Amino acid sequence: MIICETIADVRQKISEFKRKGKRIGFVPTMGNLHEGHLSLISASKEECDITIVSVFVNPTQFSSGEGFEKYPRTLESDQEKLKDLKIDILFLPDENQMYGSSSQTLVLVGGTISNSLEGCSRPEHFNGVTLIVTKLFNIIAPDVAFFGQKDAQQARIIYQFVKDLSIQVVLKVLPIVRESDGLAMSSRNTLLSKENRAIAPSMYEGMLEGAKAIRDGETDPMQVLAIITEHLICFKEIEIDYVAIIDPVTFEEVEEINKDVLIIGAIFLDNIRLIDNYYVDRN
Ligand code: AMP
Repeated sequence: MIICETIADVRQKISEFKRKGKRIGFVPTMGNLHEGHLSLISASKEECDITIVSVFVNPTQFSSGEGFEKYPRTLESDQEKLKDLKIDILFLPDENQMYGSSSQTLVLVGGTISNSLEGCSRPEHFNGVTLIVTKLFNIIAPDVAFFGQKDAQQARIIYQFVKDLSIQVVLKVLPIVRESDGLAMSSRNTLLSKENRAIAPSMYEGMLEGAKAIRDGETDPMQVLAIITEHLICFKEIEIDYVAIIDPVTFEEVEEINKDVLIIGAIFLDNIRLIDNYYVDRN
């Protein structure tokens, strides 16, 4: 595994592979790697000749007080995992490499996909994501980039700006990897107390109950949301940020459930913010 800490170095290594006609797969991460990340890396290894993983905790996607400093950083064990997986290049830039002191550019995606749900709760977040992913795409120029459905809104926004800016990359969005009790794997799970970790899967349980109601014929999103929130309010520790039933493409809330929908939500457990979603196929 080659480790590159600078943009110049990673570009040079990649150009050697490209000269040999290799297909480049890219998995951007913020580290603290778990099975969710590893599923993306395995997919890249399967589909591409060369797999590049970046680990960079991106400051611009955290507002102040959102836990940038507390974000779990486990570089040593991440490197071990990546070595075991035999990835080709680990890109490990620091803040100075990625932003320098004079960065003044934003990549703004408009519309409901940006301005709803996570975009309302974390107003700066997606501007940080679009900027860092654009920069990483420009640096790596991958043939294929792999993202998780766990961050469904993020994946949708990335799809939009890749299309709008004519960036030449194929995007692959892979299913959510869950713990055995249903909790979506997330680096933030390690920050939960033992008690809160035990109740954290309740969002997934609530979404499953909602999905069952839809499959049983419920078409009123309000009724489905009531089922989900009733499940969540059983736990006084849970503070619901939002739960919504949306069109998976437009991210508009649906008025009637008559086609595929995405149940999507965010909760706080003692200030730790957890997100999850569940795709309900009506066929
Ligand atoms: P992060 O390190 O949290 O920025 O995540 C890096 C990538 O891994 C993103 O594309 C995430 O959507 C994806 N990811 C995170 N958690 C999971 C999971 N539980 N299952 C699948 N993909 C995930």
